[in-house]
Amino acid sequence: MKTLSIVVPCYNEEETILPFLTTVQEVEKKLTHELIFDYCFINDGSVDATLDILRDISKKYINVHYLSLSRNFGKEAALLAGLEEVRGDYVTVMDADLQDPPELLLEMYAKIQDGYDVVGTRRADRKGEPALRTIFSKIFYWLINRISSTEMVDGARDYRLMTRQVVDSILELGEVNRFSKGLFSWVGYDVTYISFENKERIAGSTSWTFWELLKYSIDGFVNFSEAPLTLAAWAGSGSFLLSVLAMFFIIVRRLVFGDPVAGWASLVSIMLFIGGIQLLCLGIIGKYIAKIFLETKKRPVYIVKEKG
Ligand code: UDP
Ligand code: MG
Repeated sequence: MKTLSIVVPCYNEEETILPFLTTVQEVEKKLTHELIFDYCFINDGSVDATLDILRDISKKYINVHYLSLSRNFGKEAALLAGLEEVRGDYVTVMDADLQDPPELLLEMYAKIQDGYDVVGTRRADRKGEPALRTIFSKIFYWLINRISSTEMVDGARDYRLMTRQVVDSILELGEVNRFSKGLFSWVGYDVTYISFENKERIAGSTSWTFWELLKYSIDGFVNFSEAPLTLAAWAGSGSFLLSVLAMFFIIVRRLVFGDPVAGWASLVSIMLFIGGIQLLCLGIIGKYIAKIFLETKKRPVYIVKEKG
């Protein structure tokens, strides 16, 4: 019989873990003739009772395990910890807050048997989400799909069912800056998506603020596209060309009309404009250098403190 490993990153999820487990166990019962379920919860430095609950349930059920990280490393790191830990023939990644409906596993597993390597899920709508957030996500997906060769599906969640081969490929990508949405898509394979209606968290609250999401999307651009650098190069060439034209214009004007000294205001605006572009470009280049710096340090993405 094949094993299905379920990776669940948890950050302050004391209220949701038990309802989550019960719901998935319902699905487990329906698949019990085909799959052995194996749960791997990752406690990502929670400050509430999450770890105690995980210890309890891992004692109660032999197929429930957990990793506890030494501090909060972020969801991407927790995901990686889980993916590296589990051994299942199939692997799925799920949020603990039941925003990823476990019932979909049945449909996803059926698709895997149809021959797909990855069955992802996407939200058909963004119900219950602040309007501003929706607008910014739309802009993000529109832009990144234009400038990056890695396709990112709008509304796609991390919730996906993958074969062992796909998971091994993802783990081969050794980068420290892990933008999962991109990595999952970068490895390729036969992928299909199932849409579902957006669900709100059953309890607790999202740990993402608007600024974190903005930072996260900039990470997406820097990790999966060189377009900002190209933009910097174009801005540089553009303003150079413009300055040559201006020089030409000024020389001709000097020859034709003489040299009435005027226009310091325009001079200052031009200087500010050029200075601004230069700083922007430096910032963009700096962003990439910072990523290189982080990569070369080769720090571990996470540290496991406790295993059960
Ligand atoms: N999570 C985590 N580490 C973090 C933040 C979140 O492991 O630093 C987990 C969290 O417990 C949940 C999942 O990642 O299982 C998704 O988090 P959340 O529901 O806050 O995000 P959203 O659904 O709003 O995107
Ligand atoms: Mg959530």
